[in-house]
Amino acid sequence: MARMVPVVLKNLFSRPATRRYPFETRAPFPGARGRLTWNAAACDFCGDCQRLCPAACLEVRRETKEIVHDPFHCIYCHLCAEGCWQGAITVENVYFKPDYCKAAHTYTPAIQP
Ligand code: SF4
Ligand code: SF4
Repeated sequence: MARMVPVVLKNLFSRPATRRYPFETRAPFPGARGRLTWNAAACDFCGDCQRLCPAACLEVRRETKEIVHDPFHCIYCHLCAEGCWQGAITVENVYFKPDYCKAAHTYTPAIQP
């Protein structure tokens, strides 16, 4: 008890050691690998990004002209963007936000989420 009281008092009057994420976020550092978006209108559906993806979270559907990306299984290595010779994948250094619904994103030339 005698050892615990100083620790409790110190914690009561000191700042929290962690941020209240997701209410309080840290600014991303330069070059951070973050959110990805596909411009399906610029894509030729070659499938290179799918073949390069080590997490298998990407599917290029040539027949229906769709790209399906699961942001919750993505490891944000950005290999897909580096390998896309059409420049159809945009990378940002902002983090993908948490969500209650772990749905994949579908990109088509007409519909961009
Ligand atoms: S590598 Fe680029 S052009 Fe090829 S399917 Fe992926 S996004 Fe489209
Ligand atoms: S960033 Fe990496 S893991 Fe995510 S879709 Fe691209 S290649 Fe796959």
